[in-house]
Amino acid sequence: MESKCNLCPRNCNIDRNNKRGYCKAPNTIKLAKAAPFFYEEPVISGNNGTGAVFFSGCNLKCCYCQNYQISHELFGENVTIDRFIYILLSLADKNVDSISLISPTVYVLQIIKALDKVKHKLKIPIIYNTSGYEKAETINLINDYVDVYLPDIKYMNSLSSELYSNASDYFEFCSDAVKLMLELKPKLVYKESILISGVLIRHLVLPGLYKDSINILKWIKNTIDDLHSECLISLMSQYLPYYMSSNFPQIDRKITKYEYNKVVNKAIELQLSGFIQDKNSSKDSYIPIFDLEGIK
Ligand code: SF4
Repeated sequence: MESKCNLCPRNCNIDRNNKRGYCKAPNTIKLAKAAPFFYEEPVISGNNGTGAVFFSGCNLKCCYCQNYQISHELFGENVTIDRFIYILLSLADKNVDSISLISPTVYVLQIIKALDKVKHKLKIPIIYNTSGYEKAETINLINDYVDVYLPDIKYMNSLSSELYSNASDYFEFCSDAVKLMLELKPKLVYKESILISGVLIRHLVLPGLYKDSINILKWIKNTIDDLHSECLISLMSQYLPYYMSSNFPQIDRKITKYEYNKVVNKAIELQLSGFIQDKNSSKDSYIPIFDLEGIK
């Protein structure tokens, strides 16, 4: 493993063997849960669920993160590469329709070591589920090992990304990374209704930011047209004010029907295909319980 970590735009340039960077991740894989999960988009979850692997530690750390126990507080357990391989194979044995690597960015090098040994045995697509705060170099490193990119585009507006995620350069990096993903996996390929190659872009509509959401949808449309590529979008209404969102009165509430409809109507007008979550989806049942299931 490289001695200094500069895997993501935080560029901590530290040795994770003896220091922690912005993500607080160790130099070994740390996991909070690995289990079938049924609440992803149907092309990911299928009938049997996706094998969801929740990594502990995040390089973005949004103040409203619903998974704050793992992203901010690093709940989880360190596992060896061999143990990680066993966990992946155990999930595949449960007949899941895909494997979802959730917030994998900070462990890309360890994931590559594991998938080098086991990818050929996993006959299901590997999903790279990321906040979108990525370096293009890191996406190029992982590309041969993943089948589907599932990036968020959270913000276009740098003031919002700075305020809520301490990353004024979020869109700069995210837009480059998503463009690269679309170049690397330009077509949507399915096998029996499961996406086996392509890009699915998620966007969670945030309170007070529906105009930013609309700008993001326009950017997606222009980008896929320019690149002659395809993608699915997934609009999400499930925002709930979690963790430190109470420090920001403007996001300390659910989104309104008016806000969500504005975004949904724009997606329809732009003829973007994909998934539109029901407005009433902002409930706790979508949030996994982190209990080390499948890890120990
Ligand atoms: S992966 Fe973690 S340690 Fe490495 S540059 Fe990003 S935030 Fe820093």
